[in-house]
Amino acid sequence: MAVLEKLTSQQAIDLENKYGAHNYHPLPVVLSKGEGVYVWDVEGKKYYDFLSAYSAVNQGHCHPKIVGAMMEQAQTLTLTSRAFYNDKLGAYEKFASEFFGFDKLLPMNTGAEAVETALKICRKWAYEKKGIHENEAQIIVCENNFHGRTTTIISFSNDPVARKNFGPYTSGFIKIAYDNLKQLEEALEANKNVAGFLVEPIQGEAGVYVPSEDYLAKAKALCEKHNVLFIADEVQTGIARTGRLLATCGNCSCSDKNCSGTPNVKPDILILGKALSGGAYPVSGVLANDAIMEVIRPGNHGSTFGGNPVAAAVAIAALEVVRDEKLAENAFELGELFRAEMNEYIKTSNIVTLVRGKGLLNAIVINDHEESETAWNICVALKENGLLAKPTHGNIIRFAPPLVMNKEQLLECVGIIKNTLKEFE
Ligand SMILES: *Cc1c(COP(=O)(O)O)cnc(C)c1O
Repeated sequence: MAVLEKLTSQQAIDLENKYGAHNYHPLPVVLSKGEGVYVWDVEGKKYYDFLSAYSAVNQGHCHPKIVGAMMEQAQTLTLTSRAFYNDKLGAYEKFASEFFGFDKLLPMNTGAEAVETALKICRKWAYEKKGIHENEAQIIVCENNFHGRTTTIISFSNDPVARKNFGPYTSGFIKIAYDNLKQLEEALEANKNVAGFLVEPIQGEAGVYVPSEDYLAKAKALCEKHNVLFIADEVQTGIARTGRLLATCGNCSCSDKNCSGTPNVKPDILILGKALSGGAYPVSGVLANDAIMEVIRPGNHGSTFGGNPVAAAVAIAALEVVRDEKLAENAFELGELFRAEMNEYIKTSNIVTLVRGKGLLNAIVINDHEESETAWNICVALKENGLLAKPTHGNIIRFAPPLVMNKEQLLECVGIIKNTLKEFE
């Protein structure tokens, strides 16, 4: 048997089960092709993708401009390491810094690495600029956070499945409730050694929890008052997903006219990943101004693949697509429509209690207890009806289609979702 001969779905699933570590529990669908808002399984059945690889594929599957940039660069130069300069990295760093309104970019590959990078920068800044005694810096984080899977990051997670039996844990983190300014203020006042506050503008993995309208602006003001770095993890919320270029949109260069929602919450450190490449390649990065980024000097941090020429070419193309195709504006408008349609449905529903979200990062809450199988079963039924989504936590289903969707497609998807939910009423 040839190693790469065409498989049925069941054969592909069996192979993963037998030879792959069981660190995921996928929906039983095996995909072999994607284009725009659609994916196809190995039997040729077509689906709307309502996960977008956790918001990595904001620009749509296999966007020709992004794939084109990748192919061209892959045929020219793929990797030099940072032992030498390459002719793409500087251009990308300039482009990304200007695009998001910061002095400098530190390029990495995955979201978790970018979060780690931000934590390291924050700690070093605390010792060298703020004057905290060595090894005493604390970083405030929020309950129910999701920032990735490394040992340090899971050290401040409170998800027992992500944490248990992976200790000993990294210390230096203070956990407070999300969307709670009082706890933030108390933590800042009680502790002189706070270096940073790490926060997701919307808690995506936790179930698309949208904080109060003024939360981010007021949290940022509290951080400023205490000389503490405001670190925004926009790996999932960033790059047009929530209807603006960034969910913390501050002095960025986006052309988005809907940018008035949360005024000027400019992070001191901005963490990006996922859609930074449009899902074509692992590309992440950390942005900050010189006063912060200058604490990183040769030898302090690095990555063999970070800032490689393929990543640089892909990321420029991916950001150009977001800007040129006005994906933030589209996400804003379709998001309003989606929630309006779902709220209409909820009025007479027994199975859905709530829809929440911003832009095209939304979730519905299923009327059942957290351990119930209902949300999973709804996702299996959605799959049968041609739409792929996944529960986040227990009874919550996230809906995050590619942002290149049009209104007609969105309304068709709303129809699929409503008809599927009706089977469970
Ligand atoms: C996905 C995600 C990460 C981790 O990204 P990886 O590329 O999976 O390491 C970090 N933070 C947030 C908010 C995420 O959604």
